[in-house]
Amino acid sequence: MATNPTDVLGLPKPAWAGEDVGMLYDMAHRFMSEEILPHYDAFEKNEMVDRSSWEKAGAAGLLCASMPEEYGGSGGTFAHESAIIEAIGHVGVDGFGIALHNSIVAPYILHYGSEEQKKKWLPKMATGELIGAIAMTEPGAGSDLQGVKTRAEKNGNQYRINGSKTFITNGQHANLIILVTKTDPAQGAKGTSLIVVETDEVEGFERGRNLDKIGLKANDTSELFFNDVRVPTSNLLGQEEGQGFVQLMQQLPQERLQIGTGAIAMIERALAETIDYVKERKAFGKAILDFQNTQFKLAELKTEATIGRVFYNDCVARHISGGLDPVTASMAKYWLSDLQCKIVDECLQLFGGYGYMNEYPIARMFRDARVQRIYGGTNEIMKLLIARSL
Ligand SMILES: Cc1cc2nc3c(=O)[nH]c(=O)nc-3n(C[C@H](O)[C@H](O)[C@H](O)COP(=O)(O)OP(=O)(O)OC[C@H]3O[C@@H](n4cnc5c(N)ncnc54)[C@H](O)[C@@H]3O)c2cc1C
Repeated sequence: MATNPTDVLGLPKPAWAGEDVGMLYDMAHRFMSEEILPHYDAFEKNEMVDRSSWEKAGAAGLLCASMPEEYGGSGGTFAHESAIIEAIGHVGVDGFGIALHNSIVAPYILHYGSEEQKKKWLPKMATGELIGAIAMTEPGAGSDLQGVKTRAEKNGNQYRINGSKTFITNGQHANLIILVTKTDPAQGAKGTSLIVVETDEVEGFERGRNLDKIGLKANDTSELFFNDVRVPTSNLLGQEEGQGFVQLMQQLPQERLQIGTGAIAMIERALAETIDYVKERKAFGKAILDFQNTQFKLAELKTEATIGRVFYNDCVARHISGGLDPVTASMAKYWLSDLQCKIVDECLQLFGGYGYMNEYPIARMFRDARVQRIYGGTNEIMKLLIARSL
């Protein structure tokens, strides 16, 4: 395995990956290799990363890297988040849900929270005292988020919340949940609001099953139940009710781009692992790499990976300068995750029977990759969004 699988493509670093981003990548790579990887089999068995790993990540500066320093973050940009997610993918600890915490949950608070909310929640998210989740999906509403039924009724200076969510990443650990609710069901999308639930402070909140998945076993993807949960009206994100759908639409491009980050990192790792393997493994008296089929296959995969990396780097550059439109972000999510599944599958084939054995990292990549085409908006929904722009 190459020490840094980004090198497998031999591309020049993009302008956004400056010295500080490179240093953060190296630090995150070391942290994931030394602090997470040795325990990762146990985390997969327990179906969650332990809480102390979150706190260690916080102490190492890997939580809230792109949040301003005044709120406990490191004052970086999405380039810094990309460095951390790439390190996670390159080391192969993809179930550690800090990407969602850092670059999905925290930005909602930064962009829509009041000064008081930001000061209250972000510093604790940066230490790992608060672990973030975002709960949109319900048993009856996934792709069609307008169908959300979770109800938040205003009662004096409180919201009374009833409903259930499913498939929620970090669901067993999370103690700060951004909840997609209906504050006015008659208004459809315009009656949707985002409300923060601090689970340590409420009654009526229950965690359901930690769901049994085919991959990302180390993530505690869960059901959540809200039975007459009461939170102060000051937990609403945004100045008024009914902004939830617009807020979701504004933040989804970054969520989609970061799925692309995980995709390109795993693609690079899969290629690095496979190239090493086919050089070593022999059949018919020669290395597997010496068969022309292997060479052609890997030549194709490396070409596609290079195209993917160049597109990804361009998306990040656009995003940092504020110019990544939702359609291009949808393209990145759909195309890079499709490419990830295809490349991992083709790489697994080159491992022969060993590729089907769980002790080989390529097998875990095969299991972990599949969901990338489903969450964050399915790839079919991405194509709908792209098609609408034609
Ligand atoms: C491991 C994992 C982690 C997740 N983490 C989170 C999380 O943290 N927070 C959260 O809120 N959710 C999370 N999700 C939920 C995820 O976002 C949803 O599963 C996803 O949006 C799809 O919704 P659904 O499962 O209800 O599928 P459905 O909406 O029921 O879709 C079923 C199929 O129909 C297709 N389809 C639906 N509508 C259309 C259409 N208009 N045109 C064409 N095809 C269509 C879909 O593409 C899909 O193939 C997670 C899911 C998984 C598996």
